Amino acid sequence: MKNILLIHTGGTISMKEDETTGEVKPGEKNPIVDLIKDVPDINIISTELFYLPSPHITPKEMLQIKTYIEEMMEKQTLDGIVITHGTDTLEETAFFLDVTLTLPIPIVITGAMRSSNELGADGLYNLLSALKVATSTNAKDMGVLVVMNDEIHTAKNVTKTHTSNIATFQSPQYGPIGIVNRGGAFFHHKPVINQPLHVAALNKNVLLLKAFAGMDDTLLQKIGNHQLDGLVIEALGQGNLPPMMLPSLKKLLNKGVPIVLVSRCFNGIVQDVYGYEGGGRHLKELGMIFSNGLNGQKARLKLMIALETTTDRKKLEEIFST
Ligand code: ASP
Repeated sequence: MKNILLIHTGGTISMKEDETTGEVKPGEKNPIVDLIKDVPDINIISTELFYLPSPHITPKEMLQIKTYIEEMMEKQTLDGIVITHGTDTLEETAFFLDVTLTLPIPIVITGAMRSSNELGADGLYNLLSALKVATSTNAKDMGVLVVMNDEIHTAKNVTKTHTSNIATFQSPQYGPIGIVNRGGAFFHHKPVINQPLHVAALNKNVLLLKAFAGMDDTLLQKIGNHQLDGLVIEALGQGNLPPMMLPSLKKLLNKGVPIVLVSRCFNGIVQDVYGYEGGGRHLKELGMIFSNGLNGQKARLKLMIALETTTDRKKLEEIFST
């Protein structure tokens, strides 16, 4: 018998559709809790940590999940952890836990695109798949895994790619690292695992901006007037920005605000290739930090976490190189 800690946090997997209005929302009771009580050979230790739609989840809740897991690991012998979560910000919670935790047991996050009473509801199915992965010894030392629609993805690479399709979670460029079927979990890749980053509190204000053709520094001027500890920009292509943004970016860099560049392309890695004004080479010379293929929302979380222990540019560069 395996002991699996099952943490519910909310999301569509825990919601119901109102048959008259068609509205989907949390009810008085979380329907998935009763649906998953008895599973052969698994002792489920279930907690309803939150009952939130995932657009209401903030890094504060992510830190609470991490702390709760650490406390439970001290108290009990656990063989695996499964978290249910809304799909909108699932990749961010998965990534937060991946960057800050190293556990000797599998840790898996899942959710659903259709609520519990909708035709073709995928919640219970995904949860059973997640339990198969969490009870598999092969799922150890793989980092935090996202299991949806019969696929196993890494928290680092997975992203929500479709507004409503149940095959929404994809890992662009890299693909899933395994599949789930009736027989269990099957892995075909082993991800590279990095050292965890320490985090005990989250007090830094880090914003995320997306670049567009013709972008000037209006938004940058506005955010520069507030307390800003770090900035992530989804730059164009290989890591280039329109030159009109530069005056305010230089001011922020002079004030010591670290600026991390990712690409708004969902494949590939930013590089300091172009030497024109606003090109990657120029931005690097100005002091911007180039990230390693993370998307904007994940780079923002990583910068928030990293800034709790260092503001040193070299150290931040190192952190964003892995
Ligand atoms: N809006 C929902 C949420 O993220 C979507 C879902 O769970 O699929 O909570």
